[in-house]
Amino acid sequence: MVAKSMESCSFCKRSANDVLLLIQADALIYICNDCVGLCVRLLDEKGYVIPGYINSNSFYGKIFSGTIFLSYSSQNRSQVLSLATDLQNMNCETWLDQRLAYQGGTNWWVAITEHIKSCDLFIFALSPQSLKSQPCTLEYRYASALKKRILPILVSDVDIRYLPLELQTIQFIDYRQQSKHEFMNLIMCIRNLPDPQPLPNPLPLIPEIPIDVISLMIQRITLKEISHEAQKAITRELEDWLEIPERITEIYSLTELMLKRSDLTIIVAERLTRLKADLHTIQDKS
Ligand SMILES: [Zn+2]
Repeated sequence: MVAKSMESCSFCKRSANDVLLLIQADALIYICNDCVGLCVRLLDEKGYVIPGYINSNSFYGKIFSGTIFLSYSSQNRSQVLSLATDLQNMNCETWLDQRLAYQGGTNWWVAITEHIKSCDLFIFALSPQSLKSQPCTLEYRYASALKKRILPILVSDVDIRYLPLELQTIQFIDYRQQSKHEFMNLIMCIRNLPDPQPLPNPLPLIPEIPIDVISLMIQRITLKEISHEAQKAITRELEDWLEIPERITEIYSLTELMLKRSDLTIIVAERLTRLKADLHTIQDKS
């Protein structure tokens, strides 16, 4: 039986007006389509097979009709990929570039800025890495200049007191655990976004293309002198990039370039040698 408007879901407490469908179980118990979807998803994860059901996506209905631009740092790749999957499971059309080496040239940056211009919601995967990333900064500043709705989603620990002004819009969502509570919260937040605003006239200028991180790294590695701290920082960054399979060839060349230096400390040289061996193993596997 479908409930009347003043009744609310016994699980998420939203009223019949705020959900697609509210089902009455008995005199006092109701459940909404989102909570049914969540139950199915949990059953799915636990390996239960539900006869006649295809996937839990169909329970959420159309949460957001428009496109979402997902801005992120490649260093948060795994969290971002599961966020993107969750958005897809909510039937949200999400665009994220396969951000790898920032070496796609001008066309790559034009494609990104075009997608920001045409998106209906700009989601920023908030992490210490994305806050430090130059391309991410250019992206959210551009989205803000275009008066886009910006939704920061916390994927890693960040002190939110120091958020840049552009990201202090609307509310931010905690998605570090990706728990069912956070999942429902995300659905509710996307459903209840403020109305979109028209693009400003005149349009803001397209931001300059970010400096290629690889060429920047080459510049740092080929400096005449590198302190022990700087050597460690470079090594740590190269190790971090290991998570990006598409960058393996470049990291390999950069690691070799670094190993050619005569001023490496023993610790750094050892770490780089290990990194080179790891890269070898990865290359052999692929
Ligand atoms: Zn509910």
